[in-house]
Amino acid sequence: ASRASAGVQRLRAYDPGHDLVAMRKRLGEANLVELGSNENPYGPSPAARDAIVAQLQALHRYPDPLGADLKRALAAKHGVDIAQILLGNGSHELLMQLGQVFAGPGDEVVCSRYGFAVFALATQAAGATLRMVDALPGDDATMPLGHDLDAIAKAVSARTKLVFLANPNNPTGTWFGRQALATFLAQVPDEVIVVMDEAYAEMADADADAASALPLLGAHPNLLLTRTFSKAYGLAGLRVGYLIGAPGLVAVMERLRESFNVNGPALAACEAALGDEEHLHMACARNAEQRAALAAQLGQRGLRVYPSQTNFLLVEFGPRTARIEADLVARGVVLRPMGGYGLPHCLRITVGTVDENRRLLAALDEVLA
Ligand code: PMP
Repeated sequence: ASRASAGVQRLRAYDPGHDLVAMRKRLGEANLVELGSNENPYGPSPAARDAIVAQLQALHRYPDPLGADLKRALAAKHGVDIAQILLGNGSHELLMQLGQVFAGPGDEVVCSRYGFAVFALATQAAGATLRMVDALPGDDATMPLGHDLDAIAKAVSARTKLVFLANPNNPTGTWFGRQALATFLAQVPDEVIVVMDEAYAEMADADADAASALPLLGAHPNLLLTRTFSKAYGLAGLRVGYLIGAPGLVAVMERLRESFNVNGPALAACEAALGDEEHLHMACARNAEQRAALAAQLGQRGLRVYPSQTNFLLVEFGPRTARIEADLVARGVVLRPMGGYGLPHCLRITVGTVDENRRLLAALDEVLA
């Protein structure tokens, strides 16, 4: 490790939670309730699967290096120009690339405490300094553990190159409105790049004031959005994310993009998935319904459930959290521990299907008894 660069020496690898591959082999997939990774239990559109099958005859060919068809479909969907879109091998890759492109040693990057873990990784990998701003308190009346946008704006200094915001945020599930973001952007100098990670945007209720920052792009050329096919589209296995922003910034990002970073079957499947809005709406509607039902069920057990506009819930289990988590794993129920985020009394629970949630609650009742 001493041979690594100073930035990398400070890094800890991204922790994806339990070794699910080993657990599936040991216990059998049918005996597991996997609610640790915020995956979409309804899976992708059947059209996405068909598109992959059609691609199998072209596996010896490199994919379209520009991903032009998928970009065109995304541009049409979001009402932007194709030059405003950059594709990534998951939005994780794009976040890392943002750090590399816009920040370096001596620069500062600002994000909220409990902000998505990759923001810190991207900063450290770039050798820049992270300014982590305290979140709103856990007993805040409006948005407990949410981003404190005023404090984040105040933390921006002459050295700040990047601000990472997530709306809604993982692992808190918290969100903020477009007006709050507009007020924030007015306080931040144009030289500072503001990244809005909208990985869960499709899952927010229309009336929740968690609307996408997309309409603000025109007035704020320093604003960049990241999205993913991993969540609402149910395609986490394909690893496709995208960034939307001003053509100039997208062009600079292109310089550090790996050639052929999105594979052919993935490009075709995502394009097909975009064409099946009905499937997307079905998954989001079921998720919203199950999110409310699961939150109510957990609340009835005396557990504190934080507000969420995503496909997961942050839940407080108190000082026995580690024990409870281990007892659940022993019953094949996998949730995500939050110690790494500094929330050791919480677990993050992905909202599953009716059946998965029922099995989770049954195991929890045994464990809590
Ligand atoms: N942003 C947020 C807020 C996330 O929760 C995740 C996935 N956990 C990602 C980005 C990365 O997703 P992907 O790389 O699959 O697009």
